[in-house]
Amino acid sequence: MVVVMEVGASENQIEAVIEQLNNHGFDVHRSSGSRQTVLGAIGVRPEFDQRHIRLLDGVAEVHRVTEPYKFASRAWKKDNTIVTVKGVDIGGEEIVVMAGPCAIEDEEQIDKTAAHVAKNGATFLRGGAFKPRSSPYSFQGLGLPGLKMMRGAADRHGLRVITEAMDISQIEVVYEYADIIQIGARNMQNFPLLKELGKIDKPVLLKRGLMATIEEWLMSAEYVMAEGNLDVVLCERGIRTFEPSTRNTLDLSAIPVVKAKSHLPVIVDPSHGIGIRNKVVPMARAAIAAGADGLLIETHPDPESAKSDGPQSLYFDQYSELMRQIRLIARAVDRSVNSILVA
Ligand code: PEP
Ligand code: MN
Repeated sequence: MVVVMEVGASENQIEAVIEQLNNHGFDVHRSSGSRQTVLGAIGVRPEFDQRHIRLLDGVAEVHRVTEPYKFASRAWKKDNTIVTVKGVDIGGEEIVVMAGPCAIEDEEQIDKTAAHVAKNGATFLRGGAFKPRSSPYSFQGLGLPGLKMMRGAADRHGLRVITEAMDISQIEVVYEYADIIQIGARNMQNFPLLKELGKIDKPVLLKRGLMATIEEWLMSAEYVMAEGNLDVVLCERGIRTFEPSTRNTLDLSAIPVVKAKSHLPVIVDPSHGIGIRNKVVPMARAAIAAGADGLLIETHPDPESAKSDGPQSLYFDQYSELMRQIRLIARAVDRSVNSILVA
């Protein structure tokens, strides 16, 4: 941590800051120029709250030089993490596509979707059985029967399953049917839930919260990892900004930023990120160009009749066209699309 004192800070103020730093366990290196004094606080204290120092008289600025998270950081692990799920690597050279409806609605809907996305190169079937809806009057998901339908459809078409658990009480049942457990944007800072997920041996896909900074997002990953589960996949799904013309603002700049700070795979969900069907495809293309390790895409056999997120769900032909384009873009950035099932 670096503490920059104000121009003209008194000797008493400087000494008071040094004393506080020493009391908190830091060694201090002092360098005094003709106008300003800079204090280097040496010691690894990830939990230290900088405000203890920032509030002292005579302090101009405080900067952290090490990250407050450990297991999620690039400093701790230099090489990219690859999360392998039933033979599919997430975070390796190949781009991974997870596709399906927002919510599982019935046998026919989920089976038709699984067949279509598998044929076009997805390796995961997505879909919610427990849905975090803004309104308690909206469709809340089918629960356990939905999970069973989804598992059946995925198995028939050679896909893996990613689905959401919203609460600690749902972990057990979702664990049984899912290959990756999704944690939704609204739960990114549900710390008791994150801690429980840290104790299981199944990968977790952690969506970025609507209002979360990148550091907060990585701290949430740290919650899972600190409990022992290192298989975390990050998912950028748009953040809330002042711009009302899209559902969210898809922060693609987060991809290279997170990749520098962390070794974890980063995938992008342009469906929730922009929320408008005909604008999902360009954002998906941009995500791959920007270095995303995969995509989470909503598609539905009949989006007009979907019980949730129909307006952002791709028609099947749009999905096929997206996959064609993604293969081309992947090549341009020295990658390929995992296409186990594509001839
Ligand atoms: C979803 O993936 O269906 C979902 C609810 O996403 P989010 O948590 O990003 O809103
Ligand atoms: Mn959705």
